[in-house]
Amino acid sequence: MEAIVLYPSPPIGHLISMVELGKLILTHQPSLSIHILISSAPYNTGATAPYISQVSTTFPSITFHHLPTITLPPSAEYNHETIIFELLRLNNPNVHQALTTISENHTILGLVIDFFCTYVLSVASELKLPAYFFFTSGAGCLALFLYFPTLHKNATRSFKDIKTLFDVPGAPPILSTDMPKPLLERDDEAYRCFLHSSTQMPKSAGIIVNTFASLEPRSIRTITDGLCVLNGPTPPIYCIGPLIVSNDQRSGGSDGGGGGGVPECLTWLDSQPSQSVVFLCFGSLGLFSADQLKEIAVGLERSGQRFLWVVRNPPSNENQSVAISTQPDPDLDSLLPNGFLDRTKERGLVVKNWAPQVDVLNHDSVGGFVTHCGWNSVLEAVCAGIPMVAWPLYAEQRFNRAMMVEEIKIALPMVEAENGFVSSTEVEKRVRELMDLAAEEAKLIRKQTIVMRNEANAALSEGGSSRVALTELFDSWNYGNRNK
Ligand code: UDP
Repeated sequence: MEAIVLYPSPPIGHLISMVELGKLILTHQPSLSIHILISSAPYNTGATAPYISQVSTTFPSITFHHLPTITLPPSAEYNHETIIFELLRLNNPNVHQALTTISENHTILGLVIDFFCTYVLSVASELKLPAYFFFTSGAGCLALFLYFPTLHKNATRSFKDIKTLFDVPGAPPILSTDMPKPLLERDDEAYRCFLHSSTQMPKSAGIIVNTFASLEPRSIRTITDGLCVLNGPTPPIYCIGPLIVSNDQRSGGSDGGGGGGVPECLTWLDSQPSQSVVFLCFGSLGLFSADQLKEIAVGLERSGQRFLWVVRNPPSNENQSVAISTQPDPDLDSLLPNGFLDRTKERGLVVKNWAPQVDVLNHDSVGGFVTHCGWNSVLEAVCAGIPMVAWPLYAEQRFNRAMMVEEIKIALPMVEAENGFVSSTEVEKRVRELMDLAAEEAKLIRKQTIVMRNEANAALSEGGSSRVALTELFDSWNYGNRNK
């Protein structure tokens, strides 16, 4: 039997994206079997086990292989990203063993890995397996990462100290200090790991990207024209998106919607006028200080708009990088300004920790989205045809804001102070602008979002660009296999 092996890095979001890719492959190639390698448990959150068991029951063609536990040397000092890179580097012998075992009963056509798993390329080449990357952000961001080795070569100091505009081929210029956080400090171990991955990615058999041709045409063309990679050729790029995770596969907290019954926020939306509500939600990790939460509340109240707002506890040593589902509910009365909930109860709803975002975005009452610019959220809003205000918080989100505002033109920017703080005046102004049907800029953004929603549907339909890319990917697997 022929098989594809998927190897995601440990955070559950990466696993969920890989599983969705596996399901997509199975939809079009049901005779294949999908094998997913799971890294050792201590680096997975508690949500991983129930998720895996649910997928195994629903999709018997997907088999999970749990790799043996890795213990990191106690003396070393690691941050969140370097832990993942190091764990995956030490995993190589386990992956080698798992691939050997799988190949006893299967012909492995390809190994698909994510950005953090680059060290496994040596194993793939030893076993003569074509390795593909699954890049879960957009093509603009891929252009940035492929171009990172060039930016590195041209710079003599850390990006955080340069404060200049970088010209990235195929993407809007980005302020050096707006680069993803691990890329800011040249002497960081995380910087070296990201540089390694960015250098190795072009050596793969192909890069699968969660985007579609007409969303980021300039970025895609620039990459395929070979203008981003420093030395050597660019591998084939397969833009197969938008790949959206359904809500029943992703639940996070008290209002998650993964359990029984319709979540309260959806019932509340039923009672609101069409396209009147602005939805504020900040990904799986977005947290605000207590001061910032109050400031948002003041801005929202002054905007006079209807809103649905997902609120979490401010960051503390305990809750950073921890799954939302395991965190205590926020105490809204103490976090939000005195009387806020009461004064806005006719037109606003605050949800604790988690909302079923895809369902919310697709609800007729929602007309705008204030987002942290995580790529899944961006694609979900595009597919729902909802215009956005871009308020980046972490990872590559500042770059995504530039793509959304300047390149694709589907969002208004939220402008922060140098220390990252956003004033209530700015929140009020942007929310008003987004929801005002007569505001010129918002009108253009709303129109462009609808165009992109229709383009997304076209890309995914028979003969559409994403379906063609998927077929090309399958062809490359068969081609490689025939030539063994
Ligand atoms: N999400 C959700 N409800 C929430 C927060 C997040 O359903 O309250 C989902 C959202 O729909 C998206 C994912 O979590 O699918 C977040 O992914 P994204 O890439 O946007 O951001 P990340 O969490 O990776 O920063």
